[in-house]
Amino acid sequence: MQNLTHVKNLKEDIAAVLETNPVWRNHILQIIDEIKSKFPDSKIDIYVFNPSTGVFTIYYALAKEEGYLYLPNYYILVKNPTETRLYFGALEASGSSMTFPQLLQEYYNGSLTALLMSVTWGGKDERDSDIIESLGAQYRSYRSDLSDGTVTEFFTFRDGKWRSCEASSPDRLFNAYVEKNQTLVSQIFFKIRPRDKGAFFNFSNADISLEEYVDMATAKKRNIYYSGAPDVCDICRFPLSHEKFMVDGAVQGDLPWANMCADCFCAYGVKIGWGHGQLYKREADKWLLVGGFNPDSE
Ligand SMILES: [Zn+2]
Repeated sequence: MQNLTHVKNLKEDIAAVLETNPVWRNHILQIIDEIKSKFPDSKIDIYVFNPSTGVFTIYYALAKEEGYLYLPNYYILVKNPTETRLYFGALEASGSSMTFPQLLQEYYNGSLTALLMSVTWGGKDERDSDIIESLGAQYRSYRSDLSDGTVTEFFTFRDGKWRSCEASSPDRLFNAYVEKNQTLVSQIFFKIRPRDKGAFFNFSNADISLEEYVDMATAKKRNIYYSGAPDVCDICRFPLSHEKFMVDGAVQGDLPWANMCADCFCAYGVKIGWGHGQLYKREADKWLLVGGFNPDSE
């Protein structure tokens, strides 16, 4: 901290790397000033990971092995000369979140494909700080004061100053976020997971693969409608009101039958056919049975 050139370069680097994250940028710049005035002879270790991946931040944390490694975070360890203070940043729950369909509407014209395409150029989204807010999360900063390697006091940064709070950690804060936003989190997970082929994402449209099972002649003859159809897909919890197809069918593994959207059927369903799954097509606000008929009834 005595080397003014180092400190100046560091601040410039922080400002650049956190261009899309004004919250942490301001926090860290302020923290550096704080360290400079409070511990002018100290050395610091600093690490910043700010992927700016919006929705994928949540998805990767859930879907990847050691997913915590994909969560944005930073730490600054102050040595004066022993370890005196640790600052760190974590993502945590804030106010209410949008639903996933609302979020797709707001940022990706309602298109899941548009969201998935963004990954092909790295997944970095300039609107990350807004998206994070819409996901019901926020970038937060914490400080723990250390003495002989143990935490003596713990603070969070709020409204411009450090306030005493209960000790926590980035993974605990993220788990609390998941707990609080279960519906949104499972929407993100179940909707993206089937498209995730590891190195790339599959953009194909699930409706097209269901078209081949449609038997309109038999459908018109039998004229069977689904009564009491659910509002949302049992698996991804997306509203079914915008869907063209719905499947009432068996789910892979020994799971109970489910009402599924086309995406979830393609990912988690078994097949269309009597005893396996019935295919329904939207007609105004009703669902007409168009595939998987009972062969014994006329
Ligand atoms: Zn679904």
